[in-house]
Amino acid sequence: MADSAAMRVESLYLHVPFCAQKCAYCAFYSEPSGGDLINRYVAALIRELELVAHDLQPRTIFFGGGTPSLLNLRQWEQILRALERLNLLGADEFTVECNPATVSPDKAKRLRDFGVNRISMGVQSLDEQLLERLGRIHTREMVFQSFDILRRAGFDNLNLDLMFAIPGQTMEIWRATLAEALAFGSEHLSTYEVIYEDDTPLFAQLQAGEFDVDENLACAMYEELVARATAAGFRQYEVANFARDGRTERDEHPTFNIQHPTSNEGEPGNGGPAVQRSNTPTLQHSIPSFACRHNVNYWRGGSFYGLGPSATSYVRGVRTKNWPNTQLYCEQLEKGKRAIESREELPPLKRAGETAAFGLRMNAGWPFEEFRRATHFDLRDEWSAEMNQLVERGWASRDAQQFRLTPQGLRFADSAAELFLR
Ligand code: SF4
Repeated sequence: MADSAAMRVESLYLHVPFCAQKCAYCAFYSEPSGGDLINRYVAALIRELELVAHDLQPRTIFFGGGTPSLLNLRQWEQILRALERLNLLGADEFTVECNPATVSPDKAKRLRDFGVNRISMGVQSLDEQLLERLGRIHTREMVFQSFDILRRAGFDNLNLDLMFAIPGQTMEIWRATLAEALAFGSEHLSTYEVIYEDDTPLFAQLQAGEFDVDENLACAMYEELVARATAAGFRQYEVANFARDGRTERDEHPTFNIQHPTSNEGEPGNGGPAVQRSNTPTLQHSIPSFACRHNVNYWRGGSFYGLGPSATSYVRGVRTKNWPNTQLYCEQLEKGKRAIESREELPPLKRAGETAAFGLRMNAGWPFEEFRRATHFDLRDEWSAEMNQLVERGWASRDAQQFRLTPQGLRFADSAAELFLR
């Protein structure tokens, strides 16, 4: 009989849907912060945690948003104490996203005291004019101050988020931002090319002809990023993500265990093997030790719970999505129900196709054996034609053990990945 604790889901995401103001490019679900609604949300989130705690034993926790750091100390205390009461603390990696305008020494210390060990800071740019253009609430000075506060509070795993191809951003500005950002000495770097989502002010400006998109400049900026980050000691492990390797011998070879949702395995009470663990030397050695383990789990098709308005869960092959409306979310939880808007049980082949597509975003690509263990399908049988097509195009390489995208292919990872969807 499998240990019942081993059956539980090991990855937990919590969505905090509030922002001080809406950024010009943002299409995430968030709303302006309002005192009463935030308190109601905190109570509802704790209720949702209580409803799923029996099925959780988090090794990674990630508070994303929105702007999690907008919660005040009292609200954080309530949530962290609930996690403690429900025996959900003690994750190997516990990340909170922070806006540089909302970091304080007290908050940083409190988070650290409760086991938060990774902070992801939304910097986006270090150019004042671009920060304004993006509608960010922080200044460049606040980035420097917040980084210092976080280090002093004992955080030794910090991520900086940066954006490129912002309208008005020249190569010179990007180089200057990159140089300053790399000089911080963070452990991790996440980067995003601006995308123009419907219903955002930036999209409206583009439609109105206020600026043009320069695809060549965007490509050149991406190449500059890869070259400079690599020269600064980062290792790229995903299309947009870079991390450093460990400082100690032990850290050089961390363990990345992925909990795969295979067909019947992992159902509580079925007595079968609870989790499929894939722990191949290939994967471990190809991912830097400061890689975001929480995100690696997504890209490898692992199970996770997502709580909060608009959050998605993927547990044992079933995908659910919470209502993207904070009022409605709170109302449902106040009635003692999870606020689930939709539920989809993916057929095995469709699930495997999505897993293939996500995993290709990683530089390690897919070791064939690992993919087979994760999905029960063999890439070499089911997707042979697609793999050949990408190799011929120069976007991918293949050997006896694995298939992965080349640097050129990574630049077009979304198009490449689409071929694998079923
Ligand atoms: S802070 Fe983040 S989630 Fe909030 S509006 Fe800006 S980009 Fe969107």
